[in-house]
Amino acid sequence: MDPPFPTETKVVIVGGGIIGASVAYHLTKFGWRDVVVLEQNLLAGGTTWHAAGLVGRLRNTNTLTTINKYSAELYASLEKETGHAVGWKQVGSLIVARSPERMDQLRRTAAMSEWFGVEVQLIQPKAALAKWPLLRIDDVLGAAWLPHDGKVFPKEVTFALAKGAQRQGAKIFENVRVLNVEHRDGRANGVTTTRGTIRAEYVVLTGGMWTRELGLRCGVTIPLHPVEHHYVVTEPMAGAFDELPVGRDPDLGIYFRGEGDALVLGAFQNSSKPWRVDRVPETFSFQLLEADWDKFAEPLKNGKHRIPALETTKFAKFVNGPESFTPDNHFIMGEAPELRNLFVAAGFNSVGIASAGGAGKYLAEWMIAGVPTIDLWSVDIRRFAPWANNLAFLRERVTEVLGLHYQMAWPNREYETGRGMRKTPLHDRLAAHGACFGAKNGWERPNWFARDGMKPVMAYSFGRQNWFACHAAEHRAAREDVAIFDLTGFGKLIFKGPDAAGILQRLCSNNVDVPPGQTVYTGMLNERGGFESDLTLVRLAPNEFYLVTGTAQVVRDFEWITRHIQPGERAALVDVTSAFGVLGVMGPKSRALLRRITDAELSNEAFPFGRASLVSIGCATVRAVRRTYVGELGWELHAPMDQLALAYDALMESGRDLGAVNAGHYAINSLRLEKGYRAWGAELSPDDTPLEAGLSFAIDWNKPFIGRAALLRQKQTGVKRQIVIFVLQDPAPTLWGSEPIYRDGKAAGYTTSGSYGHTVRGAIGMGYVNHAGGVDAGFIQSGRYEININGRRYPATAHLRAPYDPQRKRILD
Ligand SMILES: Cc1cc2nc3c(=O)[nH]c(=O)nc-3n(C[C@H](O)[C@H](O)[C@H](O)COP(=O)(O)OP(=O)(O)OC[C@H]3O[C@@H](n4cnc5c(N)ncnc54)[C@H](O)[C@@H]3O)c2cc1C
Repeated sequence: MDPPFPTETKVVIVGGGIIGASVAYHLTKFGWRDVVVLEQNLLAGGTTWHAAGLVGRLRNTNTLTTINKYSAELYASLEKETGHAVGWKQVGSLIVARSPERMDQLRRTAAMSEWFGVEVQLIQPKAALAKWPLLRIDDVLGAAWLPHDGKVFPKEVTFALAKGAQRQGAKIFENVRVLNVEHRDGRANGVTTTRGTIRAEYVVLTGGMWTRELGLRCGVTIPLHPVEHHYVVTEPMAGAFDELPVGRDPDLGIYFRGEGDALVLGAFQNSSKPWRVDRVPETFSFQLLEADWDKFAEPLKNGKHRIPALETTKFAKFVNGPESFTPDNHFIMGEAPELRNLFVAAGFNSVGIASAGGAGKYLAEWMIAGVPTIDLWSVDIRRFAPWANNLAFLRERVTEVLGLHYQMAWPNREYETGRGMRKTPLHDRLAAHGACFGAKNGWERPNWFARDGMKPVMAYSFGRQNWFACHAAEHRAAREDVAIFDLTGFGKLIFKGPDAAGILQRLCSNNVDVPPGQTVYTGMLNERGGFESDLTLVRLAPNEFYLVTGTAQVVRDFEWITRHIQPGERAALVDVTSAFGVLGVMGPKSRALLRRITDAELSNEAFPFGRASLVSIGCATVRAVRRTYVGELGWELHAPMDQLALAYDALMESGRDLGAVNAGHYAINSLRLEKGYRAWGAELSPDDTPLEAGLSFAIDWNKPFIGRAALLRQKQTGVKRQIVIFVLQDPAPTLWGSEPIYRDGKAAGYTTSGSYGHTVRGAIGMGYVNHAGGVDAGFIQSGRYEININGRRYPATAHLRAPYDPQRKRILD
């Protein structure tokens, strides 16, 4: 018999799929026992019940791998703990490659897996055949073998997690639909349901493909959309058995595994079909969509190629299940920036079974600690702004996302769908100049400019890509002449009020109490001393600051600042990103160029580094900020959006004979790496402190700020990891990031960024060098370094300071 329906609880979880069950299991395990799970139909009846049950450990980032590894370990022990069988079988998984590029990708994956703590062996085709005797291998070049991967019965995992949660005190109600999230003063405080209202301190939305709509009803952005996802099950066939490893042929877009004495053949097609429903029906439980053999024709053909025995096999079942996908193929979790105490875990992009254990654990930790306990930025709900929740955009973008799981993970791969969402007023001008655009947080940003009759189209590769020469020219223009960058995508916030300065002093590691007209580079740190953000602020007036942050960070920074405004404090934060455009005018001739179109005094004395001032640029009036992210003399011009084009035209017309060129974000990346500038999201994350990142200059120890105590402790104990800049000694290869670093032959870390430094004439990257016994300058300098690129190690020179010194215009050893 059901327990009485509650009217009050600490946590209410909306949705009883594998994710909701995992969150309930972990919250109760960690001691929050007053938990209620509400499921509109029956547990596991949404997407979970029909999943293929593949549980892979290795993902493309450390965080996601940590999440999946934990899931696999949990599932292996869940039956013993709960008494409910979950069908865990450690059958291993096999990824076959049939192109040299795919082999390179497998080599890269295998190299990184060592650092992530996942065993991956590269094996010959014959060894792959021994593990999967039905395979055709005459076109297979090699394979990766992951012995610890496995499979489960997803429905049973859900039941086991639910049982575990119930044992620890959770109450689960089926056939109760949540109609709305209740909230007051920006804080969730309960739900209304088909059985009445429940007051709750916390609400967690784990409603799978229904979650976007739940979010819309309470003003929360949860961009996801259901997509049809397919697999088929054969009739019993000779040679099939349950313990066959999970096989994947990403080049053919298929996976396969044993299912008793039959086979499962599943597809990750390059282009998939959104489930076009106006509203996901609330009664959709233990149901499937209609079989779509036409859409499955290609995977079926590919399956028959890879497993010839399928030619003569009949199929017993077609599973067409809807699964929710997000705009960037990563799931969505964390506290909603719009509503305190409203947490979300949804949009699992077809890896919800493999991720559920870890996602539940880290969401529960986040709720209890009030902040993420590890760097969860890649899945953090704050990476999305409302523009990404547009239905037409989602429907277009999700057609591309499913296939990404198996497509080549090319460096700099850009989405082809859902483009042009946010354009600057310069877009058409830049396109006419040959811009090849990439999209970040929806903004179309030039990555490079095609020259010499080239088309601005990417040709991907792990080596030098087709834009290498264009990039070189832009890089050199910034070093030798002057380059113009459209930086409009930067996040921009105005923070104003009598208490604004005091609040920022508390949040920022650096001293922000500077005179109006002065800029400050600073970190905003968490209690662990890790970077929640790094940004530049301009003090406009005693009570007013203009904050400039990364393109992807603006929602996150907005949320971080507003959550730290205490009751009674007088300060308001406004996102002005779309109100101002930004041009970078960078290079030794930037001053000469600007002098032609401004009456402002630009000498070092009148306009020193770090100053900001309103100036005329041709007919535009802009805020010029003397700072640089490329390591050359330069100004950023922050223009009202309606005057951005005026400023740009004036610069281009007047700069022609000075060698002024358009330059893109790839040039910024190589220029900043040569100058040793760190990037948030690469070198800087909530897990990295300024002491580890070599940014102690941005700490003012003489004032209190969040994270100071942790930094003081770290200062005393010394750091165990430190950022290092690497330049490859061989000028031919290039670095992209995520390449393992070896010190004296032993794995020491991996690159967080990479590019080709045209001034230092070699591939350049950054990465943390780790050593449990402590890391200092002596340790770094005494090591011999190599970086693994596509399975081959290349000697690298380690630099603690920027390898390029713009003042002296020389490359340092
Ligand atoms: C064909 C297919 C194969 C797959 N294979 C794999 C695989 O091999 N490995 C893997 O890792 N992943 C796989 N997946 C993905 C995986 O199934 C999903 O990521 C996962 O099940 C998502 O779980 P969930 O709890 O978020 O969603 P669901 O299982 O859909 O659970 C959400 C629940 O919330 C309930 N709900 C929604 N709104 C409300 C409301 N207002 N009130 C109360 N209840 C509500 C719903 O009824 C539903 O039961 C596959 C998916 C498909 C479609």
